Amino acid sequence: MAARRNPDNPAAQNPVKQHHERCRPVPHLYRMEGLTKIDDLGKPRVVIVGGGFAGLELAKALANAPVQVVLIDKQNYHAFQPLLYQVATAGLDEGDIVAPFRKILSEQKNFYFRLAEVMAVNPAEQVVETSIGRLRYDYLVLATGATSNFFGDAEMAKNSIAIKSVEDALELRNTVLSNFEQALQLGDREQLNSLLDFVIVGGGPTGVELAGALSELRKHVFPRDYRELDFKEMDIHLVQSGPVLLKGMSANASEQALESLKKFKVQVWLDARVKSYDGYTVTLSTGQKLITRTLIWAAGVTGAPIAGLDPACLLPSNRYCVDEYNRVLGYENVFAVGDIAAMAGPDYPDGHPMVAQPALQQGRLLGENIARLLARQPLRPFKYDDKGSMATIGRNHAVADIKLFGKEYHLQGFVAWLAWSAVHVISLVGFRNRIMVLLGWTWSYFSFDKGLRYIIGKTKSPLVSADMEEGKAIV
Ligand SMILES: Cc1cc2nc3c(=O)[nH]c(=O)nc-3n(C[C@H](O)[C@H](O)[C@H](O)COP(=O)(O)OP(=O)(O)OC[C@H]3O[C@@H](n4cnc5c(N)ncnc54)[C@H](O)[C@@H]3O)c2cc1C
Repeated sequence: MAARRNPDNPAAQNPVKQHHERCRPVPHLYRMEGLTKIDDLGKPRVVIVGGGFAGLELAKALANAPVQVVLIDKQNYHAFQPLLYQVATAGLDEGDIVAPFRKILSEQKNFYFRLAEVMAVNPAEQVVETSIGRLRYDYLVLATGATSNFFGDAEMAKNSIAIKSVEDALELRNTVLSNFEQALQLGDREQLNSLLDFVIVGGGPTGVELAGALSELRKHVFPRDYRELDFKEMDIHLVQSGPVLLKGMSANASEQALESLKKFKVQVWLDARVKSYDGYTVTLSTGQKLITRTLIWAAGVTGAPIAGLDPACLLPSNRYCVDEYNRVLGYENVFAVGDIAAMAGPDYPDGHPMVAQPALQQGRLLGENIARLLARQPLRPFKYDDKGSMATIGRNHAVADIKLFGKEYHLQGFVAWLAWSAVHVISLVGFRNRIMVLLGWTWSYFSFDKGLRYIIGKTKSPLVSADMEEGKAIV
């Protein structure tokens, strides 16, 4: 493999020398059969696969570098995943949390985008195989993020709704709303409850935030929309395999989150695992059975790697093992950043947490390091600047562990909720999105309403017709 590091060859230890030997421009590659049609600028080409937090930040950081930046993504927009749950619970429009790559980077002259799925990497030929053809690279950066982890449970994968993409969030919103529309026609109590009850698996930030948002809908919104239904029948269950919620945050934050959820009448099951779910009955490890047609899976993610690299560089978590420069172990010119990269160190033996901050920081530093590589300057190792974490549980309720100037601060309640809101608005990509989210939240806050209660597109709601079949339909 041309791009693999050979420990016996001293030249192979020198990435700068390697690059200059290897990266002579090949003119007009786009005319070659089977290759993606794309200009060749005669400059080293950096191909970035995935425009999430890490890939997008890297593309921006390379704006002034003497390289051609080619971003490939299977969707034409960057999605702000931390607010997906708000799309799923009618709090935000999907357009408010996504931004098209071509718009974000329209001013960047060395930036090229291709809408395509990357299927494989061929490191020997330095090409990626994509759904629109092959694409040559000088430097390859894998920033493909993560995907839901069902721990091999095919039944769970089929029957549950995960929340990882905008499509997932919309499907969940449609399903929740369709459930209530159908429930109006049912008389049988168990059937009714199967539609009105929700089980969320995973007590991390996503699970906690979803549980809080559903309880807000139950309290403030749905009773006005569905006056014929009794909302005492609507149960929200949150199942967490460990003894605390928000594992990884401070004990104070975990306790506060649990207290707030209990106040919002969410039924929290700690130290309980979901053993099985057939689309109707959830069986917990404690023996308890819950009835629901909507199980929301927020219990973990696993890396989304691409075929073609040496399997030895892939860890059991499906993340690429990278060195302190985010270089995939064993390769000189292949890098991985963000969720897909695991950089083990004394503080993070399993790699950094799969959250936005490490992804952003790695993307930014790799951009600087690629410029350094080309300028034959020494590279800077990555050091994670952990700014803390936060989660919101609902109106005026949030928890935040903030790290500032070497000190830790624990916020809760309204102050934490304000901090959470401010951080999320500032972090959104695009001025329009920031304004729209700010306006939407302000309106929702004062009106106690969530206005985006549309059913458009896919829903996972089954058609429940038991009452109709038995002639029991309530008309
Ligand atoms: C519901 C949810 C809530 C979250 N909440 C928070 C939070 O509150 N705070 C926080 O810090 N983090 C949160 N996270 C985690 C955070 O979003 C991720 O850590 C972050 O998005 C990782 O960035 P990334 O660039 O590595 O990958 P991603 O942002 O996942 O981007 C990956 C990109 O790669 C593209 N891609 C993947 N495979 C291919 C392929 N084969 N070909 C082409 N394109 C491909 C995808 O389309 C996507 O655009 C949350 C995640 C989820 C799902």
